[in-house]
Amino acid sequence: MTSDTARRAAEFVAFARAHSPLMRARLGPGEAVPLHEVPPLTKRELIEDQMLHPPLGTNLTRPPHLYVRVHQTSGTTGPPLKVPETAADWRWWGRGLARCFRAAGIGPGDRVALAFSFGPHVQFWAAVEGLRSVGAMALPLGGMTSLQRLQMIAALEATALMSTPSYALRLADVARREGLEAALATVRVVLCTGEPGGSLPTVRARIAETYGAACLDHAGLTEVGPFGLPCSHGGLHVDEDAFACEIVTEDLQPVAEGEQGELVLTPLERLGFPVPRYRTGDIVVATSETCPAGHRGRWLPGGIVGRADDMVVIRGMNVYPSAIEEAVRQVSPTGAFRITFYTEAGLDQIKLEVELGDAVALRRLQEAMRARLGLRVRVVPVAPGALPGSDGKARLVVDERVRGEGR
Ligand SMILES: [Zn+2]
Repeated sequence: MTSDTARRAAEFVAFARAHSPLMRARLGPGEAVPLHEVPPLTKRELIEDQMLHPPLGTNLTRPPHLYVRVHQTSGTTGPPLKVPETAADWRWWGRGLARCFRAAGIGPGDRVALAFSFGPHVQFWAAVEGLRSVGAMALPLGGMTSLQRLQMIAALEATALMSTPSYALRLADVARREGLEAALATVRVVLCTGEPGGSLPTVRARIAETYGAACLDHAGLTEVGPFGLPCSHGGLHVDEDAFACEIVTEDLQPVAEGEQGELVLTPLERLGFPVPRYRTGDIVVATSETCPAGHRGRWLPGGIVGRADDMVVIRGMNVYPSAIEEAVRQVSPTGAFRITFYTEAGLDQIKLEVELGDAVALRRLQEAMRARLGLRVRVVPVAPGALPGSDGKARLVVDERVRGEGR
């Protein structure tokens, strides 16, 4: 952390303690607290605070009427968290997304298709705000079928697409089936978000090839803001102008070079709902390498490699669903799949149901799984359309393990 970041972090912590009842309760009275002495904050703490003090909890630094928006986390691993934004914080989100779009080479004259649902999650709205900031045109494609989206992309000659990586591949599939490949010909950048795929080399290569476009990654979280800027050499840069960044082990020590750890972020300028040292749950690899282009901000060449809350321990091995996805995508670039963790005869097992072309693909996938995970995975080919499809996160993970067994 630079001395400038340390100074800004200390001011941020002092502000949070002075104005947020939750932060005052966590940090107590007394001397100034440097950032590294602030106990890392978890989503669970914020959710518990909201359950005790509904609807928004006590982590507010302004009177309630000064909050102009509220978004909600997806709640896949518990009740959703509501995160309110002041007008100033919402402008901050817009500036963060604007840095992301500029890093992706998107600006005035671009027409950007936003293929997300238009709901309580922040992603869609923040993207609209960011495009307004850089002077590009937003094509809001919420609440549309894939076919309707393709028609809109074709009619407006969209120059960029922002979506989850799995949806980008699915949309290209629909275009092929419907004879609308030409609809995607004007797209020169696919900006991925919402899933790790945008930094997985096989997924990235497949999207770049399918679209004849650059494939870039972006990451953000409702709780902390848009922190990951796309890198043309792959992966992400942490936006260190706006965030203090740490990568830590399970017991919150700094990780060694080349090791995996959890990303802990402090958004230094977002004051309405302060989250000093927020444990994002995003797993990244720590490297001191700089990217070949010399971009600003700490480089994460592999992007987000998994979620701490996704990680499953199977027979003593740490298994991330994104590692399984990477192996699947080597063999089945667009097929839907479902991962089930279950217990059989007292041992934890992995079942992978996947849309596959043929028996050769099945054998290649079994080999890829064994090489990547070091574990045997039961692969079950399924017919196209047999698994529930999705506009958003196509990867499905089901955990049916019997508690207390198979560890
Ligand atoms: Zn870079």
